Amino acid sequence: MKRYRRVLLKLSGESLQGAQGYGIDPVRLQEYASEITKVVQSGVQVAIVIGGGNIFRGLSGATKGFDRVKGDQMGMLATVINSLALSSALEAEGQKNVVFTATPMSPIGKHYNKWDAIEALESGKVAICSGGTGNPYFTTDTGSSLRAIELETDAMLKGTRVDGIYTADPEKDPTATRFEEISYQEILRRHLKVMDLTATTMCMENNQLIVVFDMDTLGNLTKLLVEGRPIGTRVINE
Ligand code: UDP
Repeated sequence: MKRYRRVLLKLSGESLQGAQGYGIDPVRLQEYASEITKVVQSGVQVAIVIGGGNIFRGLSGATKGFDRVKGDQMGMLATVINSLALSSALEAEGQKNVVFTATPMSPIGKHYNKWDAIEALESGKVAICSGGTGNPYFTTDTGSSLRAIELETDAMLKGTRVDGIYTADPEKDPTATRFEEISYQEILRRHLKVMDLTATTMCMENNQLIVVFDMDTLGNLTKLLVEGRPIGTRVINE
């Protein structure tokens, strides 16, 4: 049974939309907050990175005539909005947490640095790392890989809508089969769209374990982190 001491959980912005298909669904937010709280109370240190795709993505802004850098900055601010929403939901569950921002944004959040984030984690608080990497032309997948490596986590948990990595997109190809374990190299060879290339190679170079799992099914985070059940797909070096 795999025991995780410290993890980084990556949630996509879209996952916060829940059933309503846009923005932030308070029911979904409360479900996430309650599950994260359970896991932290069981003794696992949890850092979180949330995307911003439910609000704004720089690349889609650029196709509508936005300057790419400004669009990316809007995207990074969207991740801060989502992070504040999760922070508030965690507070409502009684779970202490700190919102860190990649660029200075006081008093909205605390300017991120590794040591303050680790201090928060070690005192039983959730460290929400918002604002991506702080730089344009990156994604929150890369931001979460960076924070997972920096914070010396045992795993970066990528919460998705499907229960792991498949040979093809299971939502489009019914013959697709799931991997229990796969290497970063195989992901790159097969051009599997698990994360963007920058994020994948960064984890590969730093030997950062990734677990891709279905975060939309309630209870999965507990199964993985508290019960040590082998759900999802593990990504390791060859
Ligand atoms: N973004 C960025 N730099 C980063 C992280 C994010 O510029 O380090 C911007 C980028 O425009 C991206 C948006 O923030 O499209 C939202 O992040 P992402 O698309 O990764 O969110 P998700 O798809 O996970 O909801």
